Amino acid sequence: MKSIAIIGAGVTGVTTAFVLCQLGYKVTVFEKQKYPSVMTSYANGGQLSASNAEVWNHFGIILKATKWLLRKDAPLKINFWPDWHKVSWLTEFFFQIRNYEKNTIATTEMAIESRKYMQKIIDDTGIKFDRSNCGILHVYKSHAEFEHAHRVNELLAKGGLERRRLNEKEVLEIEPSLKTNYVGGYYTKTDSTGDIHKFTLNLARVANERGVKFQLNTNVKSIKAKGSEVDIRFYPFNMGQKIETFDTCVICAGVASHRFAKMLGDRVNIYPIKGYSITLPLADKVSQKKAPKVSILDDEAKIVTSRLGKNRFRVAGTAEISGCNLDILDARINPLKKWVEQNCPEVSTKDAQPWAGLRPMRPNMMPLVSRGKRENIFYNTGHGHLGWTLACYTANMVGELIRD
Ligand SMILES: Cc1cc2nc3c(=O)[nH]c(=O)nc-3n(C[C@H](O)[C@H](O)[C@H](O)COP(=O)(O)OP(=O)(O)OC[C@H]3O[C@@H](n4cnc5c(N)ncnc54)[C@H](O)[C@@H]3O)c2cc1C
Repeated sequence: MKSIAIIGAGVTGVTTAFVLCQLGYKVTVFEKQKYPSVMTSYANGGQLSASNAEVWNHFGIILKATKWLLRKDAPLKINFWPDWHKVSWLTEFFFQIRNYEKNTIATTEMAIESRKYMQKIIDDTGIKFDRSNCGILHVYKSHAEFEHAHRVNELLAKGGLERRRLNEKEVLEIEPSLKTNYVGGYYTKTDSTGDIHKFTLNLARVANERGVKFQLNTNVKSIKAKGSEVDIRFYPFNMGQKIETFDTCVICAGVASHRFAKMLGDRVNIYPIKGYSITLPLADKVSQKKAPKVSILDDEAKIVTSRLGKNRFRVAGTAEISGCNLDILDARINPLKKWVEQNCPEVSTKDAQPWAGLRPMRPNMMPLVSRGKRENIFYNTGHGHLGWTLACYTANMVGELIRD
């Protein structure tokens, strides 16, 4: 039986492990943290959103970004300290503007396909993750934003996504708890939400029961491909160096994939785009009643919300280009709280739990699913702002590649 090492137990690593185990391979997952799914796949926006498939390589976004740079609470923040990786990533990002339409359509198609693969996993394993088939409501405060949304909608439709255009009144019919006056919106009934951490952790448990080995609390230091074998050099917690040999290795290491690729002679330009979330515990009856049940995407503020079961409300957003740091800044958390206070003033923000994560983003905002220069090295990484939405599809893609 072919042995496969997977680096990383985030949502991409765990879904890949599950698929490869189902295909009959002997799978070992290496994870630096003590538990699966505690880095970027921990407290994200919770959306499974084909409707958010628009890539950000667009002149309109760049124009907005330029204005945002002057605002402390803006959805985007860039640290201008020069660093070669940042410069090369931003340069490639600009060059990808020419592929904006093509990549938005392709992402929509992948996201729609991913739903089918996720449903198959749910039916097979019975895992629970506070899933809600509530749909996603995109809302717009300005007519200019709404105009842009119509153009994006044409691309999403080309990718196969059906959405309903709403006027001001219809927005409130879909989600009556919103207090801001929006000029209109789009509702995607077929999108859904849930808790990425519960999904990944529960899937890891089932994968483990079916034979996948999880080598947790283990830092992988290097990967060396030699002929038909791959040597993984790693340090289990509180132990000395170990080396294990596998037939194949799949890199699913989130923002660390860039470093592993370099080691293996491949160029994988993934930059950490930091984002934040708050999770509100909805401890009182009023908050439970007044927190939106439908998932919201406020396109102007770049904020997403998800209701996670009866007692939790997640609000996420912002993009920060400042390298690999996970500091939680009040200046970035406050706009999330303020959004709740303006849109759902009766929901308590008192015990908001803040979190920050690093989106593993490629300049074209598309996931990388491919074979490396060495024939037994594969990548399933770089899922950026849509990692959970796309993970079940790309895990199957990498399974197909390995099987070929
Ligand atoms: C604020 C925010 C909101 C988001 N909202 C959404 C959303 O609503 N919907 C959506 O689809 N996506 C969303 N995303 C994106 C999504 O969360 C990510 O794309 C996804 O979680 C990335 O998964 P991953 O497996 O690639 O990375 P990770 O979850 O980071 O997993 C990589 C793993 O590799 C491990 N690793 C790294 N180096 C080593 C090493 N040396 N040895 C061993 N292990 C190692 C890490 O410890 C980590 O556990 C959001 C992201 C953020 C930040």
